[in-house]
Amino acid sequence: MDLFSSIDTEPARERIEELTRLIDKYNYEYYMNDRSLVSDFEFDALLRELMDLERQYPELASPNSPTKRVGGEVNKTFRQVEHRFPMLSLGNTYSIEEIEEFESRTRKLLGDTAFSYTCELKYDGVAIGLTYRNGELVQAVTRGNGAVGDDITSNARTIRTIPLRLTGKYPKDFEARGEVVFPFKEFEAFNRQREADGDEPFANPRNAASGSLKLQDSAECARRKLQFCMYFMMLPADAEPDERLTTHSGRLEAAKTMGFNVQPYIKECLNINEIKQFIDYWDRERWNLPFAIDGIVIKVNQVALWDRMGLTAKSPRWAIAYKFKAQQVSTPLESISFQVGRTGIITPVANMKPVWLGGTTVRRATLVNADYIEKLDIRDGDWLLVEKGGEIIPKIVGIDMDKRKPGAEPVKYITNCPECGARLVRAEGEAGHYCPNQDGCPPQIVGRLEHFVGRKAMNIDSLGSERLEMLYRKGLVRDIADFYSLRREQLIGLESTDDDGLRRTSIQEKGADNILAAIEKSKEVPFERVLFALGIRYVGEVGAKKLARYFKNIDALMAASEEELASVDDVGEKTAQFIYDYFRDERHRQLVERLRAAGLKMTIVEIRLSDALVGKTFVVSGVFSRFSRDEIKADIEQHGGKVSSSISGKTDYVLAGEKMGPEKLKKAEKLGVPIISEDDYLKMIAK
Ligand SMILES: [Zn+2]
Repeated sequence: MDLFSSIDTEPARERIEELTRLIDKYNYEYYMNDRSLVSDFEFDALLRELMDLERQYPELASPNSPTKRVGGEVNKTFRQVEHRFPMLSLGNTYSIEEIEEFESRTRKLLGDTAFSYTCELKYDGVAIGLTYRNGELVQAVTRGNGAVGDDITSNARTIRTIPLRLTGKYPKDFEARGEVVFPFKEFEAFNRQREADGDEPFANPRNAASGSLKLQDSAECARRKLQFCMYFMMLPADAEPDERLTTHSGRLEAAKTMGFNVQPYIKECLNINEIKQFIDYWDRERWNLPFAIDGIVIKVNQVALWDRMGLTAKSPRWAIAYKFKAQQVSTPLESISFQVGRTGIITPVANMKPVWLGGTTVRRATLVNADYIEKLDIRDGDWLLVEKGGEIIPKIVGIDMDKRKPGAEPVKYITNCPECGARLVRAEGEAGHYCPNQDGCPPQIVGRLEHFVGRKAMNIDSLGSERLEMLYRKGLVRDIADFYSLRREQLIGLESTDDDGLRRTSIQEKGADNILAAIEKSKEVPFERVLFALGIRYVGEVGAKKLARYFKNIDALMAASEEELASVDDVGEKTAQFIYDYFRDERHRQLVERLRAAGLKMTIVEIRLSDALVGKTFVVSGVFSRFSRDEIKADIEQHGGKVSSSISGKTDYVLAGEKMGPEKLKKAEKLGVPIISEDDYLKMIAK
């Protein structure tokens, strides 16, 4: 029989190889050359076939299968790995004179030897090193401190421009270094989605790229459309000689044929003038690139000379980075407008005389908050200094004092909300003002409606922000409970135009049906997400889950004291107070009642896995390897057991992980309560 089954896997192995080759090729053409060789439908069919085969024959699945591109592995922590070759940082400078010095020093050092330089873009992203053995990606590590970095291999596999297996001729064992960047277009779309979901947007593409590589869920990383730009090949001393790999530019050319994404913007230069031309050109043109760069890297091209030139204490002598200065202009302030955010936060925005800066016209820029305006000491009629660094968003960094008019008065900050007129509040120790009129301030109400329908809350996806605003303006939805009394005939034919008269939105019959169906479906959303959807300040997705698990239903939560609320994991005193106050407000209690009457879930659905622990009370202490503490508590309840927070005569077992508290240990021993391990526990529930 064994003989049969081993023969049987052969066709599967062949088909897996064939599918892998095809999918890798289509991926490469699509992501590197912007060319679709097959339809999406055909591509998906091939991928599905491969996934099915790998599920059937897990022993044949390669860690570098293209199915790993979609992610799915979960990292609780990232393993720290020592770099085989330290990732040195280059010396860098903002000064052209220092580039000239570098060039003349190099010439002196190398004497009569013939050599050249390469100039390339310095990507503004996250540096990583990829180890390849026999053409297969085996490890991806972040730069870290240069000596030790984080193993992010499963996330790196989801980046389409990182080849999982190489093509053509390649060294047996080497490291490919490069930068993971978040292209502007993808970054902006990603940030817009975050804002729509009620998440804080990222400040710049680099931070977003770095955060993405450290995501625990690689499937989420896969969705973020990061790119890898290779810029360096590191070969071990005993690498086989290869004529193509004797220069830096030759190595990058060769890397292209192996399947790496190498940007074409590299130039071999023979003297300082050519280097300066390259720098000038990209200082102007960098804004037209699809991703951020922050300078130019200059290297001696001939690899054999690197050892001869050696290292300084920190960086190699054969390379240097020139960093672009932020571009700065000054332009008159025309007015300040005040925006009211969905949480009531006021953001002052400077409206300026339009000015050309770093490839775009700048008209507006944030003034952050009242403190920022005071710190800059902005006066009426001032000219503002606006700066654009490696990022897309211009910043106001100061005042052009030469242009200040004598006797100019400091600009006035508003005292009342521009949307609803309520007097603004500034909490002690906080830099910003906010409008306290939560239930009467239009942008705050619409913001809460948006939060309520969001993907992570009630997921009523047929209601975008324009439609919500329209429903609010027409008086059909004034609060979150109003969604559940919307009628079909109220929706059909609704139309609205925004303030500029440009965008128009209207609802037809089919649209109305979709909206009502989505609202109906939201009644199935579990209690913890309903709780999150309420939009109680400081109660995020995770907090809502913990509160739901602890209190089980809305009535227990509403009746809870501040102390009890604060005793829930991860709920601080401030949050506890907010929750408590929220439910003391009669309007909020009515809102809950209306939602309950509409049929929303106000009770957690208990999952009963078995009755193995019925009648047993547990106290949980310490850290566990297979569960988080909350997970193990939930698990006990799902098997019919009870969890108590302190040890008493009624305790049946103390379930102890690592680092159990010494007090608890003493008490358990004193009362003679049996102490069991995680493994003992697993045996108990397995019965
Ligand atoms: Zn207001």
